[in-house]
Amino acid sequence: MSDHNSFIRSDLAQLAAYKPHPGGESEVIVDRLDTNESPLDLPVEIKSKLTWTYQQEIEANRYPNGSHYELKQAIAEYIQESACLADNLTTDHISVGNGSDELIRSLLIATCLGGEGSILVAVPTFSMYGILATTLGIPVVTIDRKEADFSLNLKAAQEAIDNTNNPPIRVVFVVHPNSPTGNTLKAEELDWLRSLPENILVVIDEAYFEFSQTSVVAELAQRNNWIVLRTFSKAFRLAAHRVGYAIANPDLITVLEKVRLPYNLPSFSQAAAKIALQQRQLLLPLVAKTIKERERVWSILTENNQLRVWQSQANFLYLRPRNTTADNREHVLADITKNLKAGGTLIRHTGSGLRITIGTPEENDRTLQRLEKIVELNL
Ligand SMILES: *Cc1c(COP(=O)(O)O)cnc(C)c1O
Repeated sequence: MSDHNSFIRSDLAQLAAYKPHPGGESEVIVDRLDTNESPLDLPVEIKSKLTWTYQQEIEANRYPNGSHYELKQAIAEYIQESACLADNLTTDHISVGNGSDELIRSLLIATCLGGEGSILVAVPTFSMYGILATTLGIPVVTIDRKEADFSLNLKAAQEAIDNTNNPPIRVVFVVHPNSPTGNTLKAEELDWLRSLPENILVVIDEAYFEFSQTSVVAELAQRNNWIVLRTFSKAFRLAAHRVGYAIANPDLITVLEKVRLPYNLPSFSQAAAKIALQQRQLLLPLVAKTIKERERVWSILTENNQLRVWQSQANFLYLRPRNTTADNREHVLADITKNLKAGGTLIRHTGSGLRITIGTPEENDRTLQRLEKIVELNL
């Protein structure tokens, strides 16, 4: 960093910003399979309702509702319905963020800031935990996963907890199912998370819950040190509106509410999320179609013996070329990604593999054709 910015923290100079589309935007891209969004925009009925809401109900000159009460109520009903909870879930168990990214940052501020704690992540995983922690000067302890199924290396995880002292690990982040690898938490992993002491917060990010239909929400009543994160950016097709939520015990929720900005969620985004929940019978049927497509794409990709493709419980697939060495792998992956981009498909090169979002059947077919050709030439 140059001298005229000498007021900037020195550790931030080393940090690279998160790049949504590495390499920049391009005009030839037709198939955007790199950010796990829904391939379809909102249905016109919902867009019209939202337009009407903007015209009739939203006062643009007024700050948004800072309590998010109605939205939280709608979220509580949705969770209650999808998890068949015995105990009543109330708005006190929910905090809403400007995307779940904001909630991740609030959690880091509330737990580890000021030298109070480190975080533990198992890679490959969602990169924002590490990026946000680093921007706050919070140390990130990294362990690996087993290559067979990408479950956590539990021995390494326990050693990290036992041996990290300065500062100790205060938060463990897991994704259920994981991004970019698509695997859900297994019984042994859940048991290990249950074994963690109460002074370690367990964050279970269920961004892909609607695709996996597996959740730990029913267990939250017994686990005061667990918190679940969800988002409207994936199955609910609202990535443009930036709405995420957290579910946890009311005391922890109170802390998150203290940490967030007072008007963190624009009125239009609150309205969009409420309407999406009301109209979910119009939105969520696409989830089943995406899963069917995922299985179709998976079977086609597994026929290519140059590629190793893992099973996924989310709306994306993860793969690695089989015959690469540690030395040339990143180079090969970068080449495939670049050539796919030149052909019109964006995918994500991450965690020593390739993550491909499931799109519409047409997008998937075009991408499969491009990938076949590139793999033939490159591997
Ligand atoms: C997409 C995604 C999110 C969603 O983030 P938003 O800020 O709500 O858009 C969170 N966690 C994981 C693991 C994701 O893949």
